[in-house]
Amino acid sequence: MDPFQDLISITQKIHFDFLNDENIDFPKIVVVGGQSSGKSSVLESIVGRDFLPRGINMVTRRPLSIHLQKVAVNCPLFYEKEVKEWAVFAHSDKIFIDFEEVKKEIEEATNRVAEPGMVSDLPLELHFFMQNTVNLTLVDLPGLIEVPVGNQPESIVMDIENLVKKYVEKENTLILAVSAVNEDFARSHAMKIARQVDPQRKRTIGVLTKLDIMDKGQNAMNIISGDLIHLDLGYIPVKNRSQEQIKKNIPISQALEEEETYFSEHKDYKVIADKCGVRHLSFRLSELLFQHIKEYLPKLRIKIVTILKENDEKLKKLGLDNIVENSMSRSYLALNLAEKFSLYLHDIIW
Ligand code: GDP
Ligand code: MG
Repeated sequence: MDPFQDLISITQKIHFDFLNDENIDFPKIVVVGGQSSGKSSVLESIVGRDFLPRGINMVTRRPLSIHLQKVAVNCPLFYEKEVKEWAVFAHSDKIFIDFEEVKKEIEEATNRVAEPGMVSDLPLELHFFMQNTVNLTLVDLPGLIEVPVGNQPESIVMDIENLVKKYVEKENTLILAVSAVNEDFARSHAMKIARQVDPQRKRTIGVLTKLDIMDKGQNAMNIISGDLIHLDLGYIPVKNRSQEQIKKNIPISQALEEEETYFSEHKDYKVIADKCGVRHLSFRLSELLFQHIKEYLPKLRIKIVTILKENDEKLKKLGLDNIVENSMSRSYLALNLAEKFSLYLHDIIW
């Protein structure tokens, strides 16, 4: 067996098991917003790569969990193979080095479970291993819509809303609420959902897109300052690639540089330029997730110990005590990982 493949399979297995264990309920960041508000663009900028399918119709039709994991530069398997970054899906063993193929796989895996124009709540799990990244888990969801189009049934509007709510109503979820500011902010789908599930506005972070195509003479300062709607975690304005730039295959790295120039030279935004842009957003998110996990660890510990005890008793009743040890070690491994993960985040941030 190839040791490289082996290492990936093991890490992937532990990580996926752990992050997706419903009982453990690990804190996540979930991206919400109206269709075409710029959710996929923000996610791709955070990852720094083009990997999401694009199109004019509803493209994101099932939840996609994206796990970003920083790989140590001195990892021997890493440079032995001269592979700098790769991606793996939970549903297959294939290692993706070409991210165009990741795009295709997302499309195919979506079509397998949902007809065109329809959504499915079956999540897709994608894991990125990279050198230059922050450790984060983000969930991309279908965009909220107002009216069905084409062959979509009337129920689609509520189906999407219910799917989104299911993901964001958990207290330990951070809501990344994406709103395009060239449209009426007061009608933002993201803010509407956030208001419903986070009425105290404690766990919502606002992301503002399309500042560059606002009407001449307008700016988003009244939104960014929180004067219109206050959020404890605040707002971060970003500038993604326009449709034209995507068509021209402008790389994300170039777009990120343009974004920095845009904010640092803009007459209204230059005074807050260090609090703008996707790079700032990534660091802020990993910082928030770290704080969130830290606060959550005592609860996580109690949860795991409770699960352990329950399992213990169940297995004893069934006379399967010898398996108890496996279940114990797996759960302790999870707890251990949670602690390591938070320390790891801490090292990166501070
Ligand atoms: P999603 O449906 O929310 O995932 O939205 P997308 O990320 O696919 O973006 C929808 C369209 O808006 C695409 O054509 C993007 O190029 C464009 N777009 C997104 N963000 C920005 C932005 O900040 N500025 C400009 N000019 N266009 C943007
Ligand atoms: Mg999208």
